[in-house]
Amino acid sequence: MNNKLYGNLIFELSQEGRRGYTLPQNRFGQYDIPESMRRKQDAELPECDEMTVVRHYTNLSANNFGVDNGFYPLGSCTMKYNPKINEEIAALPQFQNLHPLQPAKTTKGAEAVCSLMCRSLCELTGMHAFTLKPFAGAHGELTGLMVIKKYHESRNDLQRHMVIVPDSAHGTNPASAAVCGMDIVEVKSLADGTVDVDALKELLASVGDNAVAAMMMTNPNTLGLFERQIPEIEKIIHKAGGLMYYDGANLNPMLGAARPGDMGFDVMHINLHKTFSTPHGGGGPGAGPVGVRKGLEEFFPNISPYHGNFAVAMRAYAYILSLGRTYIEEVGPLATLNANYIKEQLKDVYNLPIDALCKHEFVFDGLKDKSTGVTTMDVAKRLLDYGYHAPTIYFPLLFHESLMIEPTENESKDTIDAFIAVMRRIAEEAATAPDTVKSAPHCTPIGRVDDVLAAKHPIVTYKQLCNDAN
Ligand SMILES: *Cc1c(COP(=O)(O)O)cnc(C)c1O
Repeated sequence: MNNKLYGNLIFELSQEGRRGYTLPQNRFGQYDIPESMRRKQDAELPECDEMTVVRHYTNLSANNFGVDNGFYPLGSCTMKYNPKINEEIAALPQFQNLHPLQPAKTTKGAEAVCSLMCRSLCELTGMHAFTLKPFAGAHGELTGLMVIKKYHESRNDLQRHMVIVPDSAHGTNPASAAVCGMDIVEVKSLADGTVDVDALKELLASVGDNAVAAMMMTNPNTLGLFERQIPEIEKIIHKAGGLMYYDGANLNPMLGAARPGDMGFDVMHINLHKTFSTPHGGGGPGAGPVGVRKGLEEFFPNISPYHGNFAVAMRAYAYILSLGRTYIEEVGPLATLNANYIKEQLKDVYNLPIDALCKHEFVFDGLKDKSTGVTTMDVAKRLLDYGYHAPTIYFPLLFHESLMIEPTENESKDTIDAFIAVMRRIAEEAATAPDTVKSAPHCTPIGRVDDVLAAKHPIVTYKQLCNDAN
């Protein structure tokens, strides 16, 4: 809004002596604070009245874009709408005010929620037991791999150090395996984007028996494709003595369609924050519960003495209950329908390298007409002018101009049609007025930022900003 009036930084609005709040008179007497713990000089805090503070932050918040503002088709990250009832439930004082160290006999209600949540997850995935402790997807992967490691150790099968990861995997898969002290071996994908089973067989033959600890698979994979060879892969890996790990970060397309437990997976994680609504973004919060098949639950490691991100689980459980058994089965089919609808409506103007039935998301490789010079970055920036959050861009790395779109199951056909119309309009602009697209965004509070400079030379303090300006 009016940044001149209300400032870019609260420090710019500071006026000596202004107050928005004063501490009540001390009724408790004086306590001497040791000299060594006292400030030598006053903290440099902005001095503002209440109205200035409220207007400043309210105007700043209007510069932001969130899933409550508009359509947010961010592939892989799944930014789906978080129903307000979830917030209400998680904010009930009986849950919100729990302290992790209060006596167990006073937390029976919360424990019941946790065990009901685990039962729901078992039912939805076909697994035998779940732990809610991991704080994110990557933490879930690490936890699951620790289960696998302990399982092999319990059988005195100590030479299994290899984790097989498809080349299309999310970067956290090899990273988690490395943190767990395992060696990572990559298996290639076919041109259709799914795991190359022949390459997997060759790989197993070359590393020999007894080396494989696990194979990690993401399904639907990072291209949004269902890995149809899972039954065969599962047989090959189990025959070699390895376990099957399911990265279920994006489980929403599977709800009501298929269960990892039925496909022969031994260990899995789910990102509650991508699958069952619950807000995330900007680095948190999340939850990555881990499920195991019968017999592996004794190997859950002790990663935290508490129950993980309880409020995130609360929101996810509210989502599961509000949909109920009937409607949760529609989540997968609707997420799949919405993504395929967008893909089919746009593939004549955007380049679709893998033209197949997708699940919840799909990847374009930029515009079809490459002669305009308009890149995926330009398309993403131009979308902001039309009031849409950009899709995920330049990921996955399999293509040069990746544009990864995920509508989620929550959006209406009207919203999706409006997005399709804008995407087509941008494709048209690329041909008729390419400079408008290349210089976008034009309607946002700031124009195109130099993201290399912002990443390499971030300005993180007010003082530094002032010094840089001088
Ligand atoms: C998001 C994601 C992860 C990582 O989850 P975090 O909660 O960000 O740690 C892992 N695998 C896949 C396929 C993902 O999409």
